[in-house]
Amino acid sequence: MEERVLYCKRCRKRTIHRREGSRFVYRCTECNSPTSGTGLVLITIHIPATLLEELDKLIEAGRLPNRSEAIRYALRQFIIEEKKGMEGEIEFISG
Ligand SMILES: [Zn+2]
Repeated sequence: MEERVLYCKRCRKRTIHRREGSRFVYRCTECNSPTSGTGLVLITIHIPATLLEELDKLIEAGRLPNRSEAIRYALRQFIIEEKKGMEGEIEFISG
């Protein structure tokens, strides 16, 4: 049976979820509550209005499909850049 580590809203932590049949529904193995199989988690953040306006301009210009995709794209880029920096630090320490 397919298992995934997903965030459980009820347990308020990442737990093992087991896929339910052929449907894209996963159930928490600790509390049995269902979680969407997309693996997406809803978060709420505060950002400056001007930053959001800039983001919406990019979306209106067709550069990105929506706010969620824009944030995911930006986060992926940020994580890639941060990991590059961490690799550099490791090289610096060992070399
Ligand atoms: Zn749970």
